[in-house]
Amino acid sequence: MQTPDIIIAVDGGASTGKSTFARSLAAELGFLYLDSGAIYRCVTHFALQRKLIDSSGAVSPELENVLGELDFSFSPEGHACIDGKSVERSIRSLKVSSRVSVISALPYVRRFVDEILHRLGSCGRLVMDGRDIGTTVFPNAELKIFVTASEQVRAKRRYDEMLSKGETPTMEEVLANLRERDYIDSHRATSPLRKADDAFVLDNSDLTVREEIIWTLGLIRGKFGIL
Ligand code: C5P
Repeated sequence: MQTPDIIIAVDGGASTGKSTFARSLAAELGFLYLDSGAIYRCVTHFALQRKLIDSSGAVSPELENVLGELDFSFSPEGHACIDGKSVERSIRSLKVSSRVSVISALPYVRRFVDEILHRLGSCGRLVMDGRDIGTTVFPNAELKIFVTASEQVRAKRRYDEMLSKGETPTMEEVLANLRERDYIDSHRATSPLRKADDAFVLDNSDLTVREEIIWTLGLIRGKFGIL
C-alpha cells in the first residue's frame, strides 16, 4: 500500500497494548516508530538515580535545574538510552512505573519531552504512541487512534511482560499501578490523557495484533482514498 507521508498518533491508558500495536503498524507501513512513554520513563530513572525523588514520592525542585544534563537517545534498534547506554530494562521496572506519572505531570518535564518528540518526529512518516500525542504533541496528526482494552486483559498483559523480564510482582501490585497511573495521567492539569475528538477508538481486548493492523489499514484506505 502506498501510504502518504502522514503522522499517526496512538494514545491510550497504561498497558492497553498500544506500543506493541504502534510498533507493528510502523513496521507494516515502513514508518518510524517513537515511544514517547520511554522518554518519560528515562526522566524518572534519571531523577531516581540523582536521588531527586524521596521515599514518599515527592520530587525535588532541583530536577528542573539538572534536566538539561539528561542525555537521551534512541538506539538504532529503538532502545531508550541514557548517555548512549540502553536503559530499557530499568525503565520498565515497577520502581520506575510507580513514579513516572508524578514526574510526567510536571509542566517543565512535559516541555522537555515535547521538544525531543518534535525534534525526532519532524520528518513525518511516523507512528508515535503516548497519552497526549493526538491532543497536544501532534494535534494535526492525519490519523489518531485511541486504544482501549478491559482492565483484566491489561493487567494480565503487563503481569506477563514483567514476569518475562524477571520481575516478580503480584497481580494486585500490577493492577494497582495501572489504576493509579491512569488516574494521575487523566487528572493532571497539563495535557491529561484523553481521547482526541477526532480519534478512532480501537478496543483490542479480543483482537490479535494482526487484526489490529488489518483494521487500521482499512481505516487508512478509507480515509485517504487508497485502493
Ligand atoms: O506508555 P508508558 O506506559 O510507557 O508511559 C509511562 C508513563 O509516561 C505514563 O503512565 C504517563 O505518566 C507518561 N506519559 C505521558 N505522556 C505521554 C506518554 C507517557 O504522560 N505522551
